[in-house]
Amino acid sequence: MSPKPRLSVFVVACLCGVFHSAAALEERPHVEVRGLYGGIPDELLQAGKTLADHGINAVWMGSGGLTTQRVALLKQQGARVFAEFNTMHVAGYLKDHPDAAPIGVDGQVCPAPHGWQGICPTHPGYRQSRMTDFRRVLRDFQIDGIWLDYHHSHASWERDVPDMPDTCFCPRCVAQFSRETNTRLPDEPLPRLAKRLLGQHAEAWFQWRCDVFTNWVRECREIVDQTRPQALLGTFHCPWTDTDFDGALRTKLAIDLKAQAQYVDVFSTMPYHARFGHAADPAWISRQTAWLGKHLGIRGEPGERHKIWPIVQLADWGEPVPVEQVLPVLDHGTRRPATGVMVFAWGSLRKQQAKVGAMVEVFRTIKPD
Ligand SMILES: [Zn+2]
Repeated sequence: MSPKPRLSVFVVACLCGVFHSAAALEERPHVEVRGLYGGIPDELLQAGKTLADHGINAVWMGSGGLTTQRVALLKQQGARVFAEFNTMHVAGYLKDHPDAAPIGVDGQVCPAPHGWQGICPTHPGYRQSRMTDFRRVLRDFQIDGIWLDYHHSHASWERDVPDMPDTCFCPRCVAQFSRETNTRLPDEPLPRLAKRLLGQHAEAWFQWRCDVFTNWVRECREIVDQTRPQALLGTFHCPWTDTDFDGALRTKLAIDLKAQAQYVDVFSTMPYHARFGHAADPAWISRQTAWLGKHLGIRGEPGERHKIWPIVQLADWGEPVPVEQVLPVLDHGTRRPATGVMVFAWGSLRKQQAKVGAMVEVFRTIKPD
């Protein structure tokens, strides 16, 4: 076994003037997963090298990109393989099913904010098509887990200033809300009805929307348990706290983390610090993780039912991530209660050798002997 590369990381850190982070960085036995998001890192497998040589022990890839050969290759490398699964963002479905488009407060189809097209969460055909595909992925591939992605309402939030229109006020959603919450609604048109739902009925409306999205997660759990029970169920989700953006996590995105925790094993919060307006503040990552741990009662101890494995940004998206931030980003991404981390995203990072090198140094440093 090669010696621990702690010194070289320290040198990298010194050159970049981030002594404090280097001092904090050493073996982190509580971190069980050091992962990459975005497919097979072929560039790291040259000249007889293995993923283990680079300190990597897990890879996430889109469920559409899975093949038996790819899964086998990663398994041979000793890596765990996790699939990413798009729940609410299959925009192509709308071409043949326009009645699945989210409806806004004005009663019209709500335009996709910044191009992020969501789908009405109560459309039965859409839900069935996603669940069928979810089952197929779990049945056909020997994956170690599957991560829900885009599991939120029609909104654009992966950025510093989000755009989160109120939806979905289609007749199906409104009728289902009325029925399931025993809320009598007058026979009046939108937008008056939407105003009423967001006014006097707001609390019931927000909770009902959350419950609809949680119910998707419940069914996904059921499918995991039936199809590949040893697989983990994870979710990639918005990194905000319950008070960020006036509680939008719940009232706009329809994410009830405590309710989803009944069904989810791993919470992969998405604190893309540069993209989200915190480019100079990588500590934002660990602050958001700390809040999540407190909110869900997760401490990052062995044997806990739930885990937090953030996906952190090293690729340039929105704002560039300089090479000197690789260390502090991974440092903050692997602080308890986090017990795993994955890097976003191999697709563009693979072209940035300096950052890849720095990432590998950190992974090899925190990897326990
Ligand atoms: Zn709807």
